[in-house]
Amino acid sequence: MAEGCGLYIHIPFCKTPCGYCDFYKVKGERIDDEFVNLLLREASLYREDEKIKVVTLYFGGGTPSLLSPFQLEKIFSGLNEIFDFSDDLESTLEANPETLSSEKLDDFKRIGINRLSIGIQSLDDEVLKTLQRDVQRKEILEKLQIIFNSEFKNISFDLIIGSPNSSIKSVLKDLSLLTNFPFVHASLYILDIHRGTRLFEEIKNGLKPTDDDEIAEIYENCSTFLEEKNFIHYEISNFARRGFECKHNLKYWKEEEYIGIGPSSHSFFRNYRTKNPSSLKKWKNELEKGNFPFEEVSKESDKKREENKIIFGLRLKEGIDSDFLRRYLEESERDFDSLLSKLTEGALVNVEDKRVSLTLKGYLLSNEIITFLLSRDFLSEREFDD
Ligand code: SF4
Repeated sequence: MAEGCGLYIHIPFCKTPCGYCDFYKVKGERIDDEFVNLLLREASLYREDEKIKVVTLYFGGGTPSLLSPFQLEKIFSGLNEIFDFSDDLESTLEANPETLSSEKLDDFKRIGINRLSIGIQSLDDEVLKTLQRDVQRKEILEKLQIIFNSEFKNISFDLIIGSPNSSIKSVLKDLSLLTNFPFVHASLYILDIHRGTRLFEEIKNGLKPTDDDEIAEIYENCSTFLEEKNFIHYEISNFARRGFECKHNLKYWKEEEYIGIGPSSHSFFRNYRTKNPSSLKKWKNELEKGNFPFEEVSKESDKKREENKIIFGLRLKEGIDSDFLRRYLEESERDFDSLLSKLTEGALVNVEDKRVSLTLKGYLLSNEIITFLLSRDFLSEREFDD
């Protein structure tokens, strides 16, 4: 276990919810001071005589950049008083470009934020309209100029691939433009169409989704493009210049401890996994009674920990230790060599220097491969031959 844990703060407010999004969020442009006080109340439940060491802090959402500098400062300094912030704390704030100004950025930097994750999703107006994002290409590009004129150096962007009305050409054009800015990190998410979203309804009513083969081609082309631009494809959806991998998210993938604060957040702390309710009201009610607002609590068993090591470890370029995987499979009376040769023959995994990792083709089938490794029965149900 690494020294120090991660701290995640969920800010569940969005000015105009996007049509594809199924995160927990509430429509609202202004954040009440009461919410800020409740966040600090929840954080104070973790106050200990010997303060908990925090090495990464991540404001996610929702839209954390809707916080006023005054509110952010209050949260940041309140947390800094409850926890022991490491001297080299990585502190990220997710931001939608349209919410930023040069004054706000200066304030965020002064307060202690040192990494920005910018939700761009697309630079194509037709795609932005399809995704029902409340912003246009022109405004995003204007805001990028402001962002890169600020003091921030560690800046990431999010892009969605596989949206209806997008194409390999439009996505590569976006990437080409974005990599002309000095971004050091990129997250590329394949669009999931979630039941209950407005986009799901539009597809039901005839909007044509991008087909899986085209999505695979876009993903592979984007990976190649970014690697040629010296971004390392270090996780299924993430790329970084060397040394700029997101330390906070690595905690999730490496099974390290993190505490989540705010509605709908998750924690993995002292061997317990917990989840807060996706409801401001329920969250608030529990906090007002002085309780931890968990709606789910489970102790991580050794078996679950091993499974998670496979599930999360295979998301990473570095993969997992092959001796560990051999032991795991042999304990359930399955043959490591024959299972792995099946996957290597299909060019889905690499086995090198005692590490097992997924290839680019394997990333696209990661869910199936993980099920294949974790389930005894799956071998007979699914073949990985082309
Ligand atoms: S994608 Fe981001 S900005 Fe859009 S609704 Fe979801 S959380 Fe809010």
